[in-house]
Amino acid sequence: MLEFATLCSGSSGNATFVRGGNTRVVVDIGCTASKLTAHLQEIGVNPHEIDGIFITHEHSDHIKGVSVFARKYGIPVFASPKTCEELPFARELAPGQLNSFSYNFALGDLEVEFLKLYHDARQPVGMSFYHHGSQFSLVTDTGVFSKTMEQSLSHADGILLEANYSATMLKNGPYPMFLKQRIAGERGHLSNVDTARALAAIDGGGKRQIVLGHLSEVNNTPETAKREIAAELARLGCSLHYDLQVAPRYEAGPLITLDELSST
Ligand SMILES: [Zn+2]
Ligand SMILES: [Zn+2]
Repeated sequence: MLEFATLCSGSSGNATFVRGGNTRVVVDIGCTASKLTAHLQEIGVNPHEIDGIFITHEHSDHIKGVSVFARKYGIPVFASPKTCEELPFARELAPGQLNSFSYNFALGDLEVEFLKLYHDARQPVGMSFYHHGSQFSLVTDTGVFSKTMEQSLSHADGILLEANYSATMLKNGPYPMFLKQRIAGERGHLSNVDTARALAAIDGGGKRQIVLGHLSEVNNTPETAKREIAAELARLGCSLHYDLQVAPRYEAGPLITLDELSST
């Protein structure tokens, strides 16, 4: 069985729980370690059961609680080679606790495929997790939704996909121009319209569990994201066969089980 749940999501902090069989991992810890422990308890997971922490990239909204949580529970940390070089807490960890990956690999019952992100970090990655024919993919913090992502996510049963900003809210919002350009640039984030186009590109007509995440607190709202995505999908002539959920910002979302029989 493959399961996932967002633990917190947004520019204020990101963390996601993934379980495949007897292997439990957390992707990113952008909240404090004590908050992460509380969020895991919200979905009935004991922090002592976590087998690994995967890091997508070194921005603080993804790594804030990694060091304290990893040391407290003695959990190995995995990141891309250049991300490892950027982690400010690398020396705080025990020898051998921080591991870099260059290729796709397996941790216990989970196989992991890494997807290159287009983002202003050193070597950022998204991830597809596989267990017994089921797939959960996580793509946030990218200015471009690439062909590689499209190919990988086309087969996913569950997806956490970024819907960072409304182009209208960003344009009319309070951010300085350089920040607006950074967010909307090719090494920034996906807008609601970008996300709708990504959903249209990977839609195979089947049912799947899709959660929208990493919403900006200033330049988006859950209602705006859903409305703008629905409008763009309608414009593209694409009707999805499932509801879009939005990950809660400060608490765990529901634990979502991906049906092994529905996978392709
Ligand atoms: Zn980032
Ligand atoms: Zn981020």
